[in-house]
Amino acid sequence: MPHTLTLTPVGVGFAYARPGEAQSCYLVAGGETAVCLDLGSGTLNRLQQQVAPERLAAVVISHRHSDHCVDLVSLRVYMMVGPGRGSRVRVIGPPGLREQLAAFAGADGWDESFTFEILDPSTAVDLGGGIVLTCARVPHSGPTHAIRLDRGAASVTYGADCAPNDVLPALAAGSGVLLAECSEGVGPAAAGSTHLTAADAGRIARRAGVGRLLLTHCAPEHDRDATLAAAREAFGGDVEWARQGEEVVVSPA
Ligand SMILES: [Zn+2]
Repeated sequence: MPHTLTLTPVGVGFAYARPGEAQSCYLVAGGETAVCLDLGSGTLNRLQQQVAPERLAAVVISHRHSDHCVDLVSLRVYMMVGPGRGSRVRVIGPPGLREQLAAFAGADGWDESFTFEILDPSTAVDLGGGIVLTCARVPHSGPTHAIRLDRGAASVTYGADCAPNDVLPALAAGSGVLLAECSEGVGPAAAGSTHLTAADAGRIARRAGVGRLLLTHCAPEHDRDATLAAAREAFGGDVEWARQGEEVVVSPA
């Protein structure tokens, strides 16, 4: 079917995930083209249940917090001596990502296995297969970008981690699916928090006019039913949890 995207959450966990949850990773596919958004701890193994990582059109990293990028360390080994040997993967992320990874895991292999590019909110990026990436800088800790993928009339927006802001509703305007964090659960958010409550996520979804809100990245201690209810009340539309391994077909909003 033309102009179709699918979204498969690979990991939906918080920075310390619940048992059974991996950290942040979402696979978006259109036709034969697959793009991975974030690659947190425990996700490379699960990702391989969906796609051969060396076949990804790109790995897009929202920000440098380890729960969003640390499995690039494992992917490097996979690319150097494992099944990915001889291939190269495009990694698009914040400035300083390669240097942070190399400082942690050593310098070898990064440039042989990956092509690093910097996310740039002023430029749309063609990822192949009709998928186009745009992004916007959102308030969090360090350079953090929300990411939108469009393929024809279908689009997915991933809010990354962020405090409430006016940028994400604009980026997500009209998306079929908004994937939004709700680290703060039912709230209230902790003083100085750089994360969303479920109600914050719902309000962003309403302002953006998205077709569906998928909640993710909820801190383990929050009541899940109350959190989901708070997002539904604030959005007034279709809200569900993003569930690991469950593919969602992205319909136009
Ligand atoms: Zn973060």
